[in-house]
Amino acid sequence: MSATFPAYLELLESGQLRRRAEQALAQLADCALCGRRCHANRLAHSGPDQTAKKPEISEKLSHPEERSVPPAEGTESPRAGTEHAEPDNLAVPSRPQTTSGPGTWPQTQPNHPPSATLRRPFCRTGRWALVSSFFPHHGEEPCLRGWGGSGTIFFTHCNLRCIFCQNWDISWLGEGRPVKAEQLASMMLALQSNGCHNINFVSPSHVVPQILEALVLAAQRGLRLPLVYNTGGYDLVETLRLLDGVIDIYMPDIKFFDPERARRWAAAPDYPEVVRAAVREMYRQVGDLELDPQGIARRGLLVRHLVMPGAIEDTQQIMRFLAEEISPNTFVNVMAQYHPEGRAWDDPPLARRITSEEYRQALAAARRYGLRLCRD
Ligand code: SF4
Repeated sequence: MSATFPAYLELLESGQLRRRAEQALAQLADCALCGRRCHANRLAHSGPDQTAKKPEISEKLSHPEERSVPPAEGTESPRAGTEHAEPDNLAVPSRPQTTSGPGTWPQTQPNHPPSATLRRPFCRTGRWALVSSFFPHHGEEPCLRGWGGSGTIFFTHCNLRCIFCQNWDISWLGEGRPVKAEQLASMMLALQSNGCHNINFVSPSHVVPQILEALVLAAQRGLRLPLVYNTGGYDLVETLRLLDGVIDIYMPDIKFFDPERARRWAAAPDYPEVVRAAVREMYRQVGDLELDPQGIARRGLLVRHLVMPGAIEDTQQIMRFLAEEISPNTFVNVMAQYHPEGRAWDDPPLARRITSEEYRQALAAARRYGLRLCRD
C-alpha cells in the first residue's frame, strides 16, 4: 500500500498516472472496458461536441478555479455547479412515456457482428464523458458526506441500465452535457475548494479513461482529495487494475446474484459473476474500510445493496458472499428506498416497494454474517 495520501499522488510523481490514462484512452477505439464488452469504436461515436479524434492528454486547464461547469465548445454549460446545492435533476424522475418494452436494448452483439466502427457503445458515450451534475452531496453515507459533503460528479448514461433505475433521467434519457478533460478536472478542483471530503464518481464504469485523463490535470493543479468509485458493479477486473493505486474508496452496489433476475432486470445474465470478481479485485486493492478520527472514510471497500422486492434470497447470498469470500469486516449499506421507476411496471415483481418484513430480513442477514452495517 502506498504511504502517500491520496495514493494517486505517487503515481502522478512517477509518471504512471499519465501512462495509465493513455493506456485506457487507447482502448476507446475497440472498447471492452466493462462487462458489456461491446468492442465498439467510441472515437467514431461522438455526441454533439464529441468530435472523433486521437486520444491525447491536454496539458492545461483553461480556468482552473472555475466553480461552474465550463462549457464545451459549441455547447451550453451544464447547469449544476457547486453553487447549486440542490440541482433539480436529482428529483425523482417521473415515469417516462415509452412505447417499447424491456427487450429493446441497443444491439451490441448481433448474430453477424459489424466492424468495431459500426457497433454501438451500450453506454452511448463516445470520446468525452457526459456529466449530469456535480455538487457537494449531503445525502451520502455519513462517512462520505461528513460536514462538508461528498464531492459528487454524476456521469450521464450507464453501462448497466437496470429497467428500474432510480436515476432514469440520467442513465436512460441521457440528461447531461459532454465535458472535456480540462472541464472535468475543474469540477474536481471546484468541489475541493468547496470543502468536500472526497471526489465521488457516480456511474464511472464507462468513463474510466476520461476520469484518468482528467485526474492527471486535476492532481497537477492541486487536487488532494481521496477518490470514491461509486459503481453499479458491472466492472471488469482488467479495467479495475488500471485504477489500482488511484481509487481510495470503492463503493460498488451489488444488485442481484440470480442470473435470471440479472437478465430480466439489466440484460446482463453474467452480472453476478462479473460483480463477484470485481468486488474481489476492489478488496484486494483497498481492503476493509478505514475511517479517520473524525469518522470520515479514508480508504477501503464500502458495499451498497438495494433490497429488491421479492428477492430476499439474493440479499442473503450477497451477505454470505461478503462475509465468507471478501471479509467479515466489510462495511455494508443495506438500502430500503427501492421504488418502482422507469420500466419497473413492465415486470410485476418490481411494481411495488419492499415490505418492512423484507427489510427486516435483509438487516438480519447482514447481522447474522457479522458485517458492519452503515447507518445514518
Ligand atoms: S458499455 Fe461502454 S464502456 Fe462498456 S464495453 Fe460497451 S462501449 Fe465500452
